[in-house]
Amino acid sequence: MQRITLMSFLLVMLLNALSFTGHCQTDYTLELSEIDHARLSTPVESRLRLAAIPVEGLSSEQREYYQYLDAYFLTFDGDLDAVINRYNELLGVTQNADIRIRTIGSLINLLGAKKQWEEGFHRVEELLALLQQNPESKYRPGAFVSLALLYRQINQPETALHFSERVLSMPDADLLNRCLAASVKISASIQLNLDIVSLAEFTDAEAVCSEAKLDYELINIEVWKVKWLKQQNRFQEALNVLQFTLIQAEQFRQDSQLVEIYNHFATLHVALKQYDEAQQYAEMALSLDNIDSFVGAKITMFDVLRQLAEVKQDFNQAYYYLNEKLALEKSMFESKLANEMAIQKAWFEVDAKQSQIEILNKQNNLLKTESQLTTEQLENSLLALSLVSLLLATLLFWSFRSRKVQAKLRYYAHTDGLTKIANRGFFTESVESLLSQAQKNNNAVSLILLDLDHFKNINDTYGHQVGDWALIQVAATIRDSVTENAIVGRLGGEEFGVALMVQDSSVGLRIAEECRQAIDNIDTNKSGYNFKLTVSAGVGCSSHAGYKLDNLYAAADLALYQSKQYGRNRVYEYSASMAS
Ligand code: GH3
Ligand code: MG
Ligand code: MG
Repeated sequence: MQRITLMSFLLVMLLNALSFTGHCQTDYTLELSEIDHARLSTPVESRLRLAAIPVEGLSSEQREYYQYLDAYFLTFDGDLDAVINRYNELLGVTQNADIRIRTIGSLINLLGAKKQWEEGFHRVEELLALLQQNPESKYRPGAFVSLALLYRQINQPETALHFSERVLSMPDADLLNRCLAASVKISASIQLNLDIVSLAEFTDAEAVCSEAKLDYELINIEVWKVKWLKQQNRFQEALNVLQFTLIQAEQFRQDSQLVEIYNHFATLHVALKQYDEAQQYAEMALSLDNIDSFVGAKITMFDVLRQLAEVKQDFNQAYYYLNEKLALEKSMFESKLANEMAIQKAWFEVDAKQSQIEILNKQNNLLKTESQLTTEQLENSLLALSLVSLLLATLLFWSFRSRKVQAKLRYYAHTDGLTKIANRGFFTESVESLLSQAQKNNNAVSLILLDLDHFKNINDTYGHQVGDWALIQVAATIRDSVTENAIVGRLGGEEFGVALMVQDSSVGLRIAEECRQAIDNIDTNKSGYNFKLTVSAGVGCSSHAGYKLDNLYAAADLALYQSKQYGRNRVYEYSASMAS
């Protein structure tokens, strides 16, 4: 009896243990995703729930999810460096595409906030590549919002607008992302002075943000509405919006929002000649604790105070405020310039590293071919040794193989690895021999130079992979647009050349125009994105520039320069007047 009791006790224990482990595994995944969903609406409770999960009990996948959420909550403590470290640690271990997309999305905005541009832009490249490889990820909208915010921050409103519009066109974007995207879209359009902004645009954005309960973003949208109304001299309407916005903003007491609101109040009251009110708001702005971190606002306030002093005919005071304003403007200009230069430098470094990677890849390919060659030679020699009776046949075979291998090496030495057309060295060599042959026979040669338009923007907006895709398409399109015996080469990054024997110089111009049109017609949708891909071209002909390649090249280059100057996506032929 006792044994039976003991047995059943053990059985119950075992079943419990089993159901406990099974229960735990599924429960933690569920628990984590519940915390994830509630993280915005109830951040404090969600963080406590996460802290209660024992990390040791998690599978590696669950642990990565846990790490992501844990780093996310750490953002609330304000130590951004600590959060950046956590995200980097996570990226060092996780291979999960969704987690990587979310982590890099959050990371690029933190790096932006810390002005760590170079690291940020590298991560942008990585994120764009990930998004391209994972077109089904449900975290795409969030990633595009992060990109839109970053580009708005670095003052590239065109690109910010592009990403925000993409989010708004995605049916699966949630309210939060729609609200942020709508806010970026409005601010970028106002910055670009675009006519697309209308009152309806604001009303839509307000509706989305209030449904998403993002009151803070709602205030930002209202402030942009004030700016937009002010741009159109609708001062009284702007003031009404502002009054309402101030009440909202006082709940948050965020200096960055308050200072902007006081600023608009002061300038609007000046515009409406309500000087006492203007004075009152200018003083309120200047008395904020953090006012020194808002140099732009301080400049506007000193300008308001200067105008008010002038109205009172107190010219001493007016002069004082003018000087204060000028000193601040100088320091702001310098720091803005320094910041912009830092951003440019970081882009440059990212581009340079990317090119280095491409060169390394090419070297690597060459090494692979070489080692293949060694192996092939070894195999062939062994064959020769063991099959003495077939010595003659083997030798013949070997020389055939070796010629093939040499041809392969020659191919690599002459060909551009990416586009598979002639590289610069081989192009130059071939054109030199074409020119000397043409000179002997008294034939004319045309040289066409083609340079893609605003190609850097394509790289910056969609990533190098898409840039590479475009280069491959362009090379193939040029090849298809010219005759078999034309020489086609890649002369550098996004520059191509075509050289061919012609009856007269008008043939070169016609062919260049055909290439231009064919490139304009490339369907970029096939890259997964939709963008404009155009080229500018310049044509030189030996009948004007002679048979020396340097001179012919200089002539075509001058014509290309003219195409760029006159608006791009066009073709010019060299004429003597260009040189002057
Ligand atoms: P423009 O119309 O004046 O010619 O402007 P652009 O942006 O085309 O000219 P710019 O010379 O400023 O930029 C050329 C860019 O081409 C910069 C570099 O990042 C990019 N590039 C060069 N080689 C490659 C490559 O192999 N792959 C990719 N994706 N980009 C490249
Ligand atoms: Mg170029
Ligand atoms: Mg270019």
